[in-house]
Amino acid sequence: MSERIFIGVAWPYADGPLHLGHIAGAYLPPDIFARYHRTKGNEVLMVSGSDQHGTPITIKAEQEGKTPGEIAVQYHQQFLDSWQKLGISFDLFTSTGTANHAEVSCDIFLTLLNRGYIYKATVSQPYCPYCRRFLPDRYVEGTCPYCYSSGARGDQCDECSKPVNPVELIDPRCRLCGTTPQFKDSEHFFLKLTAFEDRLLAWVKQQTHWRQNVLNFTLRYLEQGLKDRAITRDIEWGIPVPLDGFEGKCLYVWFEAVIGYLSATKEWAKSSGDEEKWRSFWQGAVKSYYFIGKDNILFHTTIWPAMLMGYDDLNLPYDVPANEFLTIEGKRLSTSRNWAVWLPDYLSRYDPDPLRYLLSINMPETGDTDFSWREFVRRNNDELVATYGNLVNRVLTLVYRNFDGLVPAAGELDSLSQNVIDDAKETLITMDGLLYRCRFREAIRSAMSLAQETNRYLDEKSPWKIIKQDRQASATALYVALSVLSCLRTALYPFLPFSSQRLHEFLGFKGNVEGDGWQLHFPPTGQRLLPPEPLFSKLDEGLVAEETSRLGGVHC
Ligand SMILES: [Zn+2]
Ligand SMILES: [Zn+2]
Repeated sequence: MSERIFIGVAWPYADGPLHLGHIAGAYLPPDIFARYHRTKGNEVLMVSGSDQHGTPITIKAEQEGKTPGEIAVQYHQQFLDSWQKLGISFDLFTSTGTANHAEVSCDIFLTLLNRGYIYKATVSQPYCPYCRRFLPDRYVEGTCPYCYSSGARGDQCDECSKPVNPVELIDPRCRLCGTTPQFKDSEHFFLKLTAFEDRLLAWVKQQTHWRQNVLNFTLRYLEQGLKDRAITRDIEWGIPVPLDGFEGKCLYVWFEAVIGYLSATKEWAKSSGDEEKWRSFWQGAVKSYYFIGKDNILFHTTIWPAMLMGYDDLNLPYDVPANEFLTIEGKRLSTSRNWAVWLPDYLSRYDPDPLRYLLSINMPETGDTDFSWREFVRRNNDELVATYGNLVNRVLTLVYRNFDGLVPAAGELDSLSQNVIDDAKETLITMDGLLYRCRFREAIRSAMSLAQETNRYLDEKSPWKIIKQDRQASATALYVALSVLSCLRTALYPFLPFSSQRLHEFLGFKGNVEGDGWQLHFPPTGQRLLPPEPLFSKLDEGLVAEETSRLGGVHC
């Protein structure tokens, strides 16, 4: 029985390029997961889009003298280009700027309003007397009321990841001019989170399959008690509040952006020609996964579920496998200090698979991990080139030279050969269990151990030495090794889709890796191989110094 899997991926703000922290945190993991499930024959829908609203974009537009719309379109195009080059296989990557998204957001807003889960109240909003405007979320900075770190914003503290209201900030300042804001009365709508407190707590307590960090963080937050939150703002850029008398006010970006998961599904259904098809990923037997960075956990484990509970008849998240952070060369990533590796820069200089490899084998699943250029070069040269690539290359070359490029017929397998085949089958089963539970790091490690083991097997059998005196034994060893390669192209496909597809073709298979399913497909005797070429290229040690020197400099 095939399963239905919905994969919602964090919506990146269209206010700047993506960096490796984004990729390791929220974009590579869902792609691995989607490719794995598709290979299993499951029905997958993976959606996201660029978040075109909110103050990060209006701030950027003001800095660059452009309109927010121009900024959003520019980065949306860049995201699409990056996904294609890095192989992030969205079924739909849309944006929050569509009429469809506005319609779905307004429907949720009005439904929750009618049911009493949204109410009106007068609040004091920060207003800058110098700039003569209300200051929404990110236009206010100050000290966090929870952890006392400076530089918390009016929507969230990056240090402790807690949502913050502007009025709670200690020593608030206008981000545009530094003036201390006044607080002025303004009428706004609130989401009644307090109404969901007990249901949320009971629901979260049942999610024992969640990652420990996600579960504990959410429980601690819920146990402190929830506060109702304003979901509209005095801002022109966004989805206008769909009621008369609220001109100049928009739905607040965190309320509206999470609705993107649902609106994107509806857009996908419309373009498929079956408008009602969205239901198959939101109602009934479907598991919904939300891949996000750790700074986004509470929006997906409390606020979005509360909205879904209030709307009633849509599935709650099944899992929210949030990753921890990636540091760069031992230091916390910072976009303002340009202590970051930007994805478009990386993709302009290197192949996608070596990056996917490093970020997978060193994924910040249970704690922060570090990216360094030295490790990038080392893992590429020692593991991708010397272990996996070399195994592929020597097997394919030997078969190509000695057996006319055709898969040779195996003789009887001795116990050593049988063990290697059994381990290959076992690896797929082990990885199946790990990938299903979103344990990506362990999964790729077991594929790489199989490659190592097969290298040892080849050294032991030395088919190149015995080709003259015992052609059959040589053929058998190479057949076993070809079978492992066939296994590895499947096992590594979710992680390294580009090189896996090339290996699939070198082995003489037609179509694509996904079509062959999550199983060990023995290459048929007599199948014609393609002339082998190296799967990976060695990288020069010199790039370590060159790339490291770019960090912290001026980014152009
Ligand atoms: Zn804090
Ligand atoms: Zn100001």
